Amino acid sequence: MEDYEAIIGLETHIQLNTKTKIFCSCKADSWTAPPNSNICPVCTGMPGVLPVLNESVVEKGVLLANAMNAEIQDISYFDRKNYFYPDLPKGYQISQYDRPLAKGGYLDVPMPAGTARHVSIWKLHMEEDAGKTKNELGRRLIDFNRCGVPLIEMVTGPDIRSAAEAAQYLIRLRQLLRWIGISEADMEKGHLRCDANVSLRPIGADYLNPKTEIKNVNSIDAVKDAIEKEIDRQKREYAAGKKVEAWTLEWDEENQVLRKMRSKETEADYRYFREPDLLPVILDETRKQRILSDFPELPLARKARFVREYGIPDYDAEILTGERSLAEYFEDAVKCYGGDPKRISNWIMNDVMRIINASGTTAAELRLSPKYLADIVKLVDEGVINTNTGKSLLEKTHLSGKAPQQVVSEEGLGRVSDNDAIRQIAAEVLLESPKEVESYKAGKATLMGWFVGQVMKKMKGKADPQAAKTILEELLK
Ligand SMILES: [Zn+2]
Repeated sequence: MEDYEAIIGLETHIQLNTKTKIFCSCKADSWTAPPNSNICPVCTGMPGVLPVLNESVVEKGVLLANAMNAEIQDISYFDRKNYFYPDLPKGYQISQYDRPLAKGGYLDVPMPAGTARHVSIWKLHMEEDAGKTKNELGRRLIDFNRCGVPLIEMVTGPDIRSAAEAAQYLIRLRQLLRWIGISEADMEKGHLRCDANVSLRPIGADYLNPKTEIKNVNSIDAVKDAIEKEIDRQKREYAAGKKVEAWTLEWDEENQVLRKMRSKETEADYRYFREPDLLPVILDETRKQRILSDFPELPLARKARFVREYGIPDYDAEILTGERSLAEYFEDAVKCYGGDPKRISNWIMNDVMRIINASGTTAAELRLSPKYLADIVKLVDEGVINTNTGKSLLEKTHLSGKAPQQVVSEEGLGRVSDNDAIRQIAAEVLLESPKEVESYKAGKATLMGWFVGQVMKKMKGKADPQAAKTILEELLK
């Protein structure tokens, strides 16, 4: 059998986290709203209404275009994409066609093996979402809540070569969307939707075979599974001497199979034309600069800088830049601490992350601030508290929101190295244990450990054991 390589392109729809929809003032997020409760004449396509562009959709689109290294266009237009479907009340979708918001662009996606895949971006444009239909009890139900929710459609070139690479692309895209704050990017909630175009060709060939399009996948794992299944299916078709046709396939998550939905439409079927009710989108230099004025350092760049600047391992840097507020937390804590950044990294990865995960918050929302973390690590470094006390102090600081030093003094957590206090307790212990004192004096030296233990117990573990031993030896002379 001939050896084939997979040629994969991904079409993603990104739901923007704006407050309102793209052309009306209905709330954009209807996740918990009852069906058809978040609609108005504009988003349900009543006659005589006019769309008004939500400028924050343009701003978020510009942020994404910049993050994808795409060329933001000075002028772009909205177009009508005409098709008939029950969930599309106007009979057309307002989208962008030949003059989109941005052109070109790419994402260099690191692969676990240490290589990278250069994924080019072919298309990046703004559009409105359609509604939802579902079949229930033999009836077709329609929910228009999602009509007019702002989307960015982004299409990659056919640059991806395996299902695993497709998954990595989506993982990095999701990270990026959250990082620049334009989408919650939750695939299960449809904030990030992905269709995959898959074809095969003999290794070494430079032509493209017909591709199939996989739709309706709602998790990164499902995208990976569906692509793997489709690659296998096409391999079998070619091995049997058959042709692969340009079908649209639907992923059935429950049964883990692909089903043929329809033969694919071509773009001509949509009869695109300019949207006459909206002005062109103008993005001059001043406006672009204003939108991009506080554009953040992106996750992969920040990861590389963490390794370079703080000398922490790649593994640590990857985790610490998994989410933007965590990366910021780390850097702030390192600044407050002033010592070895790896020590802060260890405390975050071992302990602070556990608190973050258990409380379901982000690093930015922790009452255990970066400064408090640095204070706790310093208290451990200086021997004021031991490591275990330090770990429980993280939790106490997180719960109370009080400064660690305050918790230490209020709860008396500090190690007692005050010799007078230890001497007093040691004397008590010896007075209460005449038999042991006798045996010790008769030569049973191993009892010293027991005496130290008794002192520690009375002082609830806060005595410095070395100081206790020295004092006990003096008293027993
Ligand atoms: Zn509306």
